[in-house]
Amino acid sequence: AAKNDRLETIRTYSPAMDEALQLRRTINSELDRALMNNELTLVYQPLVCARTGKVMSAEALMRWPSKQGLAGSPGVFIPIAEESGLITKLGAWALDQAMLEIKRQKTIPIAVNVSPVQFRVDGFANSVEAALERHGIEPALLHIEITEGVLISHTGEAQRTMNRLRQMGVQVLLDDFGTGYSSLSYLQQFQFDGLKIDRAFIQQLDIGHTGRELLKSIIALGHSLNMKVVAEGVETEDQAAVLQLLSCDFLQGYALGRPGAADALHAMTGPEELLGGLTRKGGGWTG
Ligand code: C2E
Ligand code: MG
Ligand code: MG
Ligand code: MG
Repeated sequence: AAKNDRLETIRTYSPAMDEALQLRRTINSELDRALMNNELTLVYQPLVCARTGKVMSAEALMRWPSKQGLAGSPGVFIPIAEESGLITKLGAWALDQAMLEIKRQKTIPIAVNVSPVQFRVDGFANSVEAALERHGIEPALLHIEITEGVLISHTGEAQRTMNRLRQMGVQVLLDDFGTGYSSLSYLQQFQFDGLKIDRAFIQQLDIGHTGRELLKSIIALGHSLNMKVVAEGVETEDQAAVLQLLSCDFLQGYALGRPGAADALHAMTGPEELLGGLTRKGGGWTG
C-alpha cells in the first residue's frame, strides 16, 4: 500500500513539477541571453544618514527591463539564477558595473548584493581585489551585502572570505537581518560592518508598541557589537522619525528615495540635498 501511495503521489505532482522546472529553465536561458545582449541594468537606491538626511551610500539593484511580468523582478529571477549557477555570471557583471559607477562618481560608496552562491566560489575575495585594482578603486568605496544564507554551513570558508574582504577595506553588511533562522548566532561568529534590518520590522512600527521596542533592541544590539545599523523599507515620514529617535544610523526606503538611474543619485548628492536633510519641510525627501 505504501508503495502505491508513493506512485500516486508521483503521478499527481510530477506534471506540475515538470512545468515549474521548464519555466525556470526558460527564464534561465532568457536571462543568460539578456546578460549577453546588454539588456540588464543596475538601479541605485540611496541610504541616508538618519540624523542629517545626507546621502551616505547607495545600493545597486539589478533590473531586467525587457522582461515583462513577475519573472522580471529580481525577487523572482535571482533565486532562479542561484539555483542554476547563472548567478555567478550575473553577480560578476553587477560587481563590474557597480565599480564603473563608483569610478564615475567617486563620492559615495556603492553596495552590491552578493549571492551566497557567488560568495562561496573559490577565489571570490581575490576576484574582488583584482577588479578593484583593475578599475583603480579605493576598497572603502565598495560595500558588499550578504544574507545569512551565505553563512549557513561552509562557515570556515565564508569566514575567511569575509576577513579577506574586510582586511582589504571593503565593508560587509548583513542584509535582511531578522528574517532568517539564526541571525543572532551569526552575529557571534562574524564581524560585520553593518546590519540592515529587514523591512518587515519597519512595517511593524505602524502596528504598535511591541514593534518599536523590538527595533530599539535590534538597534542597540547592533551598536553594542560595533556595527552601523540601517533600516530597510522605510516608507513613511513617521517611520523615519521614529527610527531617528531610536538612533538608527541610516535609513533606506521609498520615503527617502526610490531605486533609480545613477544620474538621479548624483543629483541627490548635490549640495542642496546634503543640507536639507530630514528636517526639511514639505516636498518629501525623495527630491
Ligand atoms: P534586498 O537586497 O533586500 O533589496 C531591497 C529590496 O527592497 C529591493 O527590491 C528594493 O527595491 C526594495 N525596496 C526598497 N525600498 C523599499 C520600500 O520602501 N518599500 C518596499 N516595499 N520595498 C523597498 P528589489 O530591487 O526587487 O530586489 C529584491 C531582492 O533581489 C534584493 O533584496 C536582493 O536580495 C536581490 N537582488 C537585487 N539585485 C541583486 C543583485 O545585483 N545581485 C544579487 N545577488 N541579488 C540582488
Ligand atoms: Mg540588499
Ligand atoms: Mg534587504
Ligand atoms: Mg532581500
